[in-house]
Amino acid sequence: MLVTGPRGTKDILPAASSNWQYIEKTVRDICRLYLYKEIRTPVFEHTELFLRGIGETTDIVEKEMYTFTDRGERSLTLRPENTAAVVRSFLENKLYAETLLNKLFYIGPMFRYDRPQAGRYRQFHQFGIEALGSKGPAIDAEVIMLAVQLLKKLGLDDLHLYLNSVGCPECRPVYREKLQSYLQEKTSNLCTDCQSRFDRNPMRILDCKKEKCAEQSQGAPQIVDCLCDECSEHFSQLKELLTLAGVEFTLNPRLVRGLDYYTKTAFEIQYAPLGAQSAVCGGGRYDGLVAECGGPSTPGIGFAVGIERILLALEKQNLLPEAANAIDVFIAPMGTAMQGMAFALLCNLRENSITAEMDFMEKGIKWQMKQANKYPARFVAIIGEDEAAQGKVMLKNMQTGVQELVDVNEIQQKIQLDMED
Ligand code: AMP
Repeated sequence: MLVTGPRGTKDILPAASSNWQYIEKTVRDICRLYLYKEIRTPVFEHTELFLRGIGETTDIVEKEMYTFTDRGERSLTLRPENTAAVVRSFLENKLYAETLLNKLFYIGPMFRYDRPQAGRYRQFHQFGIEALGSKGPAIDAEVIMLAVQLLKKLGLDDLHLYLNSVGCPECRPVYREKLQSYLQEKTSNLCTDCQSRFDRNPMRILDCKKEKCAEQSQGAPQIVDCLCDECSEHFSQLKELLTLAGVEFTLNPRLVRGLDYYTKTAFEIQYAPLGAQSAVCGGGRYDGLVAECGGPSTPGIGFAVGIERILLALEKQNLLPEAANAIDVFIAPMGTAMQGMAFALLCNLRENSITAEMDFMEKGIKWQMKQANKYPARFVAIIGEDEAAQGKVMLKNMQTGVQELVDVNEIQQKIQLDMED
């Protein structure tokens, strides 16, 4: 059907776009405060980047990518997330040579072949940050603080921050084996997805949402008990820093996140009233990713926030600001003969930064006054034949109801004076 958009996509209509601008502005303000700079990468990349960067055994790569072959027989994929692409750009443009610590942010559409439902779409938008270059826990704390402060600034409460450490290539294999031997005898009771995860990615079984899988992994060994000294030290320092900053968190040993590249810190922020899609932010450390993509070994940490979910949360808490539709002047020409003068006045006012509109629909004065009230307009400039002949307009103050005959050249001054009052 030509009049229906593809499943899982949504139009952002004019009535809603101010909500998006509001969130984007809040994001930009907070990134300025924390000195994260914007990076814009293409919406498609070589498929290979995501296979390497996200991991071939992840749900995203196995089931959710929009992959296509272009006319030059290249395999390309619409980005399902943006960390891998930011890392690609970081390497390609040698950003590591410019500064020791690169603090970057992005806002844009991502694409996943997910099952669409409220809060889950096939094209959705993420705001995310990536800090590349520091391995210490202080940057982890900063990254988490930025997410928490953003959500607070938007007015959201009822948020829960969950924290875990997923170890590193040194301690994770040991844990993996422990987990596999714990689950060995229980595999027949797991869902088919988890059965196939058992060999390839057993930690993902821990965050399977199916009840029977959760039951089977109930008493499983926890990764925090198997961390090597370095990971364990990093994790306790991070917890200390967050406590110092007054950030509340809950340890969640089941939090493993979907992507393969995470090391050490993993975190998620949930907004419970959203129900099944309660995760509004997810992130973690990825010390191995840059090297995996062929670059110099560089530690990194970041997160992504789902903008649609933030919008849903703000709607639920009635926190979205009123759209600013008000204008300074509505120009009402009384008949098509007055249109030239109306248009000249319109241009002049706009050149002087006065928000003005005129009647383009060639309607009568009654309709024009109604229209002016709809915005609402602070003034209406009525241009009748007699007034026009004298180079004047009837300027009506819509708040006081007072109207006076004003010279065209004085309108701007009158309006500006009123604005200063
Ligand atoms: P992820 O990259 O899966 O960690 O996702 C980070 C955040 O993006 C999640 O916490 C969600 O808020 C949001 N998100 C992920 N997938 C979708 C989707 N299909 N539709 C809408 N938001 C999503």
